[in-house]
Amino acid sequence: MAGIIIKPRARIFHGHDWVYASEIRKIFGEPKAGEVISLKDYRDRPLGTAIYNPESQIVARRISRRKQKLDEEFFTRRIGQAIELRERSGIDPRLARIVWSESDGLPGVIVDRYGDHLVLQTLTLAMSLSRELIAQVLVDLLSPESIVLRNDSPMLVAEGIEEETLMLHGERPAAFIVEAPTVEGGVKFEIDLLDGQKTGLYLDQLDAHREVAKLAKGKRVLDCFCNQGGFALACAKAGAASVTAVDSSESAIEATLKNAALNGVEINAVKHNAFDFLKHCEDEYDLVILDPPSFTKNKKSLNNAMRGYKEIHLRGLKLLDRDGVMATYCCSHHATRELFLENIVSASVDAKRSLRMIASHGQRLDHPVLPGIPETEYLKGFVLQLMPSR
Ligand code: SAH
Repeated sequence: MAGIIIKPRARIFHGHDWVYASEIRKIFGEPKAGEVISLKDYRDRPLGTAIYNPESQIVARRISRRKQKLDEEFFTRRIGQAIELRERSGIDPRLARIVWSESDGLPGVIVDRYGDHLVLQTLTLAMSLSRELIAQVLVDLLSPESIVLRNDSPMLVAEGIEEETLMLHGERPAAFIVEAPTVEGGVKFEIDLLDGQKTGLYLDQLDAHREVAKLAKGKRVLDCFCNQGGFALACAKAGAASVTAVDSSESAIEATLKNAALNGVEINAVKHNAFDFLKHCEDEYDLVILDPPSFTKNKKSLNNAMRGYKEIHLRGLKLLDRDGVMATYCCSHHATRELFLENIVSASVDAKRSLRMIASHGQRLDHPVLPGIPETEYLKGFVLQLMPSR
């Protein structure tokens, strides 16, 4: 088998599974892009098997410490283990990310389950070439009605894979309804997997919706960056006095209103840039939720991103009534927990207020973190309450 010899001190010797070009000492046997290769250390000792793509910055991603082929047995075993993990985690396995890339030993493979429908992404070349086999294994394991391939991530460019959306199994599904068990009685969402705008839900935030909704009863709630209304709907169903939801996307606001009607609750959904909305808002709230998209995809833009977080934190705090609560989330891997918390404190200093932390949140268990691969940890959130003025 063709393969690569890795330089000493590479990250693979520290618990990681990725090999960057700068970490390669030698390539042997002329491996082709998308193939399985063997990895060796500089003394020729085997380090396992990886998928290879010289076009990517991450040239090799280890899939096993042993010899391994990308065959049916492999996918059945790994996907089976991933499904079992969700079942044991106490989350509803029918509304979950059932395979998440490196965290499930399948680099680049993402499978989201919405009841009887699956959405597959294959974001590495080797996995993209195996997608028919992966779909077949999913059919054997779960008998879904449909499998949509949705390869539309910016990650594809780096791997040299074309963007595409197509059916791998079953008929194109019409819009359907799923129920998230975030509050008593559940929250219903309309899902349209083939609508380029809306797609699925932010499954990684379902636990946070539940936890924040617990604080919403009788409160005036503002959900900024609401998308399809995840937080807003859970809070409204939990008995909030009023709920305002803001998103800059027209289709997100439409979806939020549709979902509100579906759940029999009232949400004041506003299409607006959240920065401007927060700046000009004259109302007071008891609970402000901030869940923006990642402001930074790389280290270079981190300072700008932190300025963005600081601005929404400061403005969010200023809208809070006495002992009000702010729930704020950051889904960028580059902004660490410490940096994000520092940012919140800095905003509170400017607002001349002290904050008490009520809860700290992370990505749901269907997005498992591998401490050896720090890139797998990206979502953090803090729920903070204003202390009485002193
Ligand atoms: N809170 C949601 C997920 C939010 S995703 C949930 O829990 O399900 C981020 C959302 O921010 C997207 O819907 C996007 O349309 C919106 N968005 C991005 N930039 C924005 C801006 N400047 N102002 C308001 N909304 C914005």
